[in-house]
Amino acid sequence: MFLKSIDLFGFKSFAEKSHIQFTDGISALIGPNGCGKSNVVDAVKWVLGEQATKSLRAERMEDIIFNGTDTRKPLNVAEVTLTLENDGVLPLDFPEITIRRRLFRSGESEYFVNGAPVKLRDVRELFYDTGIGKTAYSIMEQGKIDQILSTRPEDRRALFEEAAGITRYKMRGREADRK
Ligand code: ATP
Ligand code: MG
Repeated sequence: MFLKSIDLFGFKSFAEKSHIQFTDGISALIGPNGCGKSNVVDAVKWVLGEQATKSLRAERMEDIIFNGTDTRKPLNVAEVTLTLENDGVLPLDFPEITIRRRLFRSGESEYFVNGAPVKLRDVRELFYDTGIGKTAYSIMEQGKIDQILSTRPEDRRALFEEAAGITRYKMRGREADRK
């Protein structure tokens, strides 16, 4: 499985519709300070369901919507789409999977998988045990290793469970307990 492309519109500095295409292998985003490199990483975390504004370097969730420049009006919606090639790692019978999140300034938020409306929970479930997801280890930011080492043993254990592929079953068990 790999990330084939990211489409952004209205997310942070991406006022124009933007398409970033990746190929299998290593890609690097390069550019001057402030050009939007980290915003691309924020966009990926956001689509995967990040709810913590701090982790997105924003004060309020609304701050991730393009808020205008001297020459451009602010936008009222942010939308990011990830297109993933699926070789069976994701539990959906499609060779290509798109995940989209949309947020309106009114606060209304939507998620879509392959164009169909879903809930945040469905997006989370899709990525259990893949190492991808907001609390998994596919995004290693500055300071993340230190954070992992200094975190509570219970939280550290969650990373090993994700790598071992048992998160899905654990979550299901928890749901069953609640019912
Ligand atoms: P560095 O090399 O310093 O890490 P970077 O390429 O990672 O830089 P980012 O942090 O991705 O840069 O982008 C910062 C830019 O994004 C700033 O110019 C900031 O004004 C802009 N920005 C952030 N949120 C918004 C928003 N909601 N609307 C418009 N622009 C925004
Ligand atoms: Mg940066």
